[in-house]
Amino acid sequence: MPINDFHQPEVLLSKEMIHDRVLELARQISRAYDGVEPVYLLGVLRGSFIFIADLARELTVPRSVDFIALSSYETGTTSSGAVRLMLDVRTPLRGKHVLIVEDIVDTGYTLDYLLKTLRAREPASIKTCVLLQKPDRLQVPTTIDYLGFTIPDKWVVGYGLDYEDKFRALPYIGTVEP
Ligand code: 5GP
Repeated sequence: MPINDFHQPEVLLSKEMIHDRVLELARQISRAYDGVEPVYLLGVLRGSFIFIADLARELTVPRSVDFIALSSYETGTTSSGAVRLMLDVRTPLRGKHVLIVEDIVDTGYTLDYLLKTLRAREPASIKTCVLLQKPDRLQVPTTIDYLGFTIPDKWVVGYGLDYEDKFRALPYIGTVEP
């Protein structure tokens, strides 16, 4: 079956499951940053835009939101391995408590690149919050401080994640078989 706009991805994580997990992550993060605030939430575009919006609204500590854009894939679902910085943050990170908010860790190359690049800018602290991880695919060990779900090795879409720019607005996370 072709993967077009009419394709219905199979549900892997329902809207309710995601909501409950985001609330729990926000509680953990709020506890951890209580007194250390403010948190500089750094979303990795474009896949994390819905996750960071939900997370930012559930935190109970002061936070600011910024974005960075990287590219690690050409098209579809094939990894190129190479990571490029496409859009940088607006303000220097020196002295800030940075929390990277990423949609998914697959091979780990993107998060590894990001941590190395941003650590060099001397933030006061740097941690990672990742919604999904595919442990079977990991190539580079990375530190995920706050993890939503581990998932099987399948291409997932919805809740910000795409397949060739489709399905980002789905309220649930589902699988497509390319
Ligand atoms: P990594 O560098 O860890 O291999 O890949 C991280 C990036 O690959 C993610 O930020 C995301 O853009 C993309 N990616 C990896 N797996 C998936 C997936 O199953 N679905 C979608 N939509 N993107 C993915």
